[in-house]
Amino acid sequence: MRGLLDKRVLITGGAGGIGLATAKRFLEEGSRVAILDRDAAACRSAQQQLPGLQGTILADVSDDKAVARAFQELDGLFGGLDVLINNAGISIRQPFLSITPEQWRTVTGVNLDGVFLVAQQAARRMLAGNGGVILNMGSTNGLVGYHYYADYNAGKAGVIELSRSMALELGPTIRVNAVCPGFIMTPMQEAEYTPEMRRSFENKIPLRKLGKPEDVAALFAFLASDEAAFISGQYFVIDGGEIAGGLASQA
Ligand code: NAP
Repeated sequence: MRGLLDKRVLITGGAGGIGLATAKRFLEEGSRVAILDRDAAACRSAQQQLPGLQGTILADVSDDKAVARAFQELDGLFGGLDVLINNAGISIRQPFLSITPEQWRTVTGVNLDGVFLVAQQAARRMLAGNGGVILNMGSTNGLVGYHYYADYNAGKAGVIELSRSMALELGPTIRVNAVCPGFIMTPMQEAEYTPEMRRSFENKIPLRKLGKPEDVAALFAFLASDEAAFISGQYFVIDGGEIAGGLASQA
């Protein structure tokens, strides 16, 4: 991709799953990459797997003070920021009527508040520097209803609207977009699903396969690059066609 060489890239939730694959991809593009994650053991493992990483910063994205400290650490490492992949997120499967206020706050606190807190710190630095690109992690769950993830779905819908609003206020200096994956097989899910479960998920998807973390990493790389220089304020679905037909796709 054009324009990623030597770019300073921060990836939240970068120690696992899609974030780790994205860190690997940006390193391959010649970028300078740091990850921010709350999982210390996973950070150590990421640094071993990807020795080219310039730093791993421990922080919980839902904690505003921890995020502010993390960015001070990042200033020492990079002295600015060009690309933010705002990826950290969690989900808890629970029927709507069983969601406790605490669970609601935990899930939206990471997935929506966390995206806001990190994006604000990043945007201030990009505005003071040479501009940049912010890519927020949404989900197809933010676009259509899914059973048993009401808190997650509401937070991801919020990320999409937050991204549009940020694009309006931060342009022309910063481009902002959201990425909305469908079913992506991270190593954790790969270990969890039986072959039958996997087949039943695959059968619901027009491309008859689940996505890989590398598929999403490639979309992030494109959207962060100069190839996407005229793209801002949008969301990009990457789901093998899963939600293309609405109810018709379930026939
Ligand atoms: P993952 O494998 O669980 O990796 C997420 C990483 O983020 C983990 O290292 C996790 O640490 C870290 N993290 C979680 N909460 C954090 C916090 N508060 N502060 C800092 N780091 C935190 O997840 P994934 O499947 O790659 O998902 C990454 C993103 O993609 C999420 O936003 C998710 O909602 C979104 N997404 C995923 C899929 C999918 O099918 N996988 C589909 C659509 C959207 P812990 O291990 O401690 O939790």
